[in-house]
Amino acid sequence: MAEARQFEIECKSVLTKSKIPSIDYALNPYLGCVHGCVYCYATFMAKFQKVEGEWGSFVGVKVNAPAVLARELERRPPGVVCLGTVCDAYQPAERKHRISRACLEAFVGREGFEVGVLTKSDLVLRDVDVLTRLESPDVGITVTCLDDRLAAVVEPGAPPPTRRLDAMRALADHGVPVWGFFGPILPTFSDTTDEIARVLGGMKAAGADHVLVDRLNLYPRVWSRFRDLLAREYQDHVDAVASIKRDPERYETELRRRVEDVAATLGIAAELCF
Ligand code: SF4
Repeated sequence: MAEARQFEIECKSVLTKSKIPSIDYALNPYLGCVHGCVYCYATFMAKFQKVEGEWGSFVGVKVNAPAVLARELERRPPGVVCLGTVCDAYQPAERKHRISRACLEAFVGREGFEVGVLTKSDLVLRDVDVLTRLESPDVGITVTCLDDRLAAVVEPGAPPPTRRLDAMRALADHGVPVWGFFGPILPTFSDTTDEIARVLGGMKAAGADHVLVDRLNLYPRVWSRFRDLLAREYQDHVDAVASIKRDPERYETELRRRVEDVAATLGIAAELCF
């Protein structure tokens, strides 16, 4: 992958009211995400924020986010916070800039805030000392398949899934509540009964107390990126995915059944988002 363009920005607000059910505030310490997942639904952010460049090729570091957050925490009512809804708070820039870490630190000693992180990176493990000082933390680890080679193509800037599960295990061993996000399930790759069992089983073994599961929504922008990737790397999957796109209801019904059966067999609490 080409080196991502990095720049610093000042934000006016960082604790944003969330429209996601059960989350009161979204907190995104970065603009953009160099994990560059082919299915990312947050690519609209580039246009919205008037940033030039392909999604995955840039990251804006919100250098004043911790100071802005500290001020916002003085006047906002407590609630459930999610770090990383339109970026990954533990993407590579965080190693140097430590903005997410400083934001987590701002919640230490604040009563009533439930602070969660959703990430694909094992870098979150660095901040276990802060997480364990929070009143009510949790960390969700996203895995869309357990094939490191496939993940390197689909999520080119993110650490391999095997490392993510190792991080999940380590967080759980430190007493941090962890859960898994299996989403999106990659059609024709990680949607078979065997692959679903590998992922859900891997999450359970790594200490996840529950798993959220989602399917890939092949809306036009995602479909065009996914189709280009298949044509480039996995030509033998193009027709099968195209046929799923033609009849998504049938596919989703079957996928739901598969996930529910596997979850019941493995004895893991799985909540479906579709
Ligand atoms: S990690 Fe999340 S925000 Fe980042 S590119 Fe992937 S899907 Fe998008």
